[in-house]
Amino acid sequence: MENLSYTPAENRYSCGMKYRRCGKSGIMLPEISLGFWHNFSVEDSFDNCLAMVEHAFDKGITYFDLANNYGIPYGTAEKTFGDIMKKSFMPHRNELFISTKAGHEMWPGPYGEWGSRKYLMSSLDNSLKTMNLDYVDVFYSHRYDPNTPLEETLQALVDIVCQGKALYVGISKYPKEAAEFAYNYLEERDMHCLAYQGRYNMYSCETEKDGIIKQANENGTGFIAFSPLAQGLLTDRYLNGIPEGSRVARGGFLKKEQLTDNVLEKSRKLNKLAQKRGQTLAQMALSWILKDNKITSVIIGASSVLQIDDNLKSLDNCSFSLEEQEIINKIV
Ligand code: NDP
Repeated sequence: MENLSYTPAENRYSCGMKYRRCGKSGIMLPEISLGFWHNFSVEDSFDNCLAMVEHAFDKGITYFDLANNYGIPYGTAEKTFGDIMKKSFMPHRNELFISTKAGHEMWPGPYGEWGSRKYLMSSLDNSLKTMNLDYVDVFYSHRYDPNTPLEETLQALVDIVCQGKALYVGISKYPKEAAEFAYNYLEERDMHCLAYQGRYNMYSCETEKDGIIKQANENGTGFIAFSPLAQGLLTDRYLNGIPEGSRVARGGFLKKEQLTDNVLEKSRKLNKLAQKRGQTLAQMALSWILKDNKITSVIIGASSVLQIDDNLKSLDNCSFSLEEQEIINKIV
């Protein structure tokens, strides 16, 4: 299965990708990372998945974001990634930063979701086997569990690192108070929380309004933004209907009902502004997130190499005039 024909581009670290320090850690992450939530299932073309990952790596994307339950059925994105590892990336493991997570529903019964030690430990063991890895770079608690003592979840993260199965730990979608508790609990055990993963895009700024981004910054924890394109709403994907093969057409997490006249009208206005800036809407949406240093990396989703390339061009212009910012604030 090994793909002896894949040789990473020699200029992968000098072709435009910039790297930001993840909080106060030693880790530098690419400004754009690639996520495996959609489009890496068994039903997707393996050749296209492989092409996207090889291309991303050739362009300096070193961070690949997974979770135990990504793919249909659950777990198949990790399986695809494991096959990609075997085929092309085993010799390059040291250059990759790979995450997985556990927290959402994964297998039936009382031990298949949330934040128990039993679930987190067994899930990561499964993930490592499926992904053909000895360790992940960061393991996230995927969501806050109000019914499990937070100490149990966090101690499991600490022990996972001590066992050598993850190098760093992170949390995702935790409410502010629980995040504060987590940061302190981990710090007291000499375990810095590397990253907080939360939703952040022009249409969803709750993590900013609630002070979660600021809190992460103050704790020296990198903030990693997911769904930066609002699953495609902040692109030109739906401006002229629902294209075949799109997330909405395929019954993904983005639903037809979310394509309201109001949202499409906003996206059309933003698209015009993007054109004035010489960007596509997707590029402007990513540039907007990266305009200042409070975000470490944006994790994009993609269904083609072309989309990845389009998105990478956002790095060419991440500055916004006051006037442009005002226009955006008015539209959204
Ligand atoms: P985005 O908001 O980036 O949406 C990705 C989708 O937008 C693509 O699948 C594609 O849709 C469309 N798209 C991407 N680029 C372009 C382009 N240039 N032009 C037109 N359309 C484009 O991200 P996701 O919602 O996929 O989330 C990204 C990652 O974040 C996930 O893979 C996952 O790793 C992480 N995540 C983490 C969560 C957490 O709980 N921690 C929750 C959600 C996501 P199409 O498929 O239709 O082509």
